[in-house]
Amino acid sequence: MVEEKNTKFCSNCGVEIDKKAKICPKCGVEQPIIPEKVSNWWYFAPLFLGIVGGLIAWIVNKDTNPKKARKLLVIGIVIPILYILAYFLIIGSIFTVSMSGAREKARDAQRQSDIRQISLAMEMYYDENGAYATAKNMDGLKNQGLELYLVTIPKDPLNDEDYSYYFINNTSDSQRYCVYAELEGGGFFTASREGTFTITNKPSANNLDCGR
Ligand SMILES: [Zn+2]
Repeated sequence: MVEEKNTKFCSNCGVEIDKKAKICPKCGVEQPIIPEKVSNWWYFAPLFLGIVGGLIAWIVNKDTNPKKARKLLVIGIVIPILYILAYFLIIGSIFTVSMSGAREKARDAQRQSDIRQISLAMEMYYDENGAYATAKNMDGLKNQGLELYLVTIPKDPLNDEDYSYYFINNTSDSQRYCVYAELEGGGFFTASREGTFTITNKPSANNLDCGR
C-alpha cells in the first residue's frame, strides 16, 4: 500500500502545509478543495435508503468530494420519485384495464338487449303477418316495415369493421330468421324462432335457426 502524504503545497505561496488545512497558515489564502476518492459503496446509501441515504452520503462526503456528494444526494432524491412514478403507472394501468373490461361488458349487455329488441319486433311482425320480415341482410331489414315495431333498427355500439349485427338472408324462408351479434367477451348472441341464445361458433350463412 502506498503511504499517503499528510502535507500539500499552498496554492498561493507554495509552502508545504497540512493536507487538511483550509487556509494557508503562512499567507492566509483559502485552499482549493482537492476531491478525495469516495468509495462507490456509497451509492448503496441513496439506492436503498432514498432521500435519507442521500442526505447521509452528502453530509459525510461533501467536504472531501463535493461533486460526488451532490451526485449521491441527487440520486437519493430521484430514486423515490421514480418509485412513486412507477407506482402510479402500475395503478393507472390496472385501473385502465379494469375500466376497459367494464366498458366491454357494458357493450355486450347493450348487444344482448338490442338483439332481444329485434327478436321481439320480429315476433310482433309474425303475429300480424303470419311470416317474419324477410331481408338479405341487416340493412335490408330497414325496408321491411320492421321499424313499425322498433324506434330504429339498433346498431352495434362499436359498429366498426369488427363489430356489427348480422341478419342471415331469409328471403327464401319467411318462417324462419336468424339475427345475431358478436360479443367482445367471446361468442355470439343469437335470436331466432327458437329464442335467444349465446353460442360459441358463428352461425353458418344458411342456418336460419342460428345453429339450433
Ligand atoms: Zn500560502
